[in-house]
Amino acid sequence: MDMPRARKKMVETQLISRGITDERVLSAMMKVPRHKFVEEAMAAQAYGDYPLPIGYGQTISQPYIVAEMTQALGLKGYERVLEIGTGSGYQTAILAELCGRVYSIERIKPLLLRARNIIDDLRYFNVALKAFDGTLGWSDEAPFDHIIITAGSPSIPPPLVKQLKDNGTMIIPVGSRDEQELLKITKSDNSFTKESLGLCRFVKLIGQNAWEE
Ligand code: SAM
Repeated sequence: MDMPRARKKMVETQLISRGITDERVLSAMMKVPRHKFVEEAMAAQAYGDYPLPIGYGQTISQPYIVAEMTQALGLKGYERVLEIGTGSGYQTAILAELCGRVYSIERIKPLLLRARNIIDDLRYFNVALKAFDGTLGWSDEAPFDHIIITAGSPSIPPPLVKQLKDNGTMIIPVGSRDEQELLKITKSDNSFTKESLGLCRFVKLIGQNAWEE
């Protein structure tokens, strides 16, 4: 299978056609080899318009949702971004292309180790990974310019708001186990404003400040 061609088709038919306009996001999605982040047996499906299983009951998100969440951050290149839910590491790699440094937390250690290997093989040197409960954030490295949560939460975890810089944005799916609203939170002083980016469906954010296992 011609992977660069499949990637180009993904960008044109799934992203540009649905309104993704940020040229930097489109270039990153054109460049990062998504098929390396899934099991070899699934490589041919990696550029399809859907999420795929990555083991342990988890998924690599649909390309469009990765692009939409990334575009909503409006990255310029210098930012420090915290990601909760490393999963396959694909979203981490997209962020690594677009910001200064990515800090990514995953609660399932074998997934984190697999992501670490792929990210190292692809030579992304601006990524720090940690096996931890991401609903507690990464206090030693806070505050962050932006925070992106790639699992669905019943509410906004307070430690994450605390660890966000003033004027920083957080992208988080909030709602029930079955459906969430994708929210863009902008922090200012000690409060924040919310903007809805539409409905979505993510696997559960499990931790002290989200769902129980
Ligand atoms: N961004 C990922 C990618 O590109 O492959 C997709 C992530 S998957 C939809 C959600 C991930 O969040 C899962 O790997 C899950 O284990 C992880 N997760 C759930 N709760 C978490 C928590 N409290 N802390 C860290 N990771 C968590």
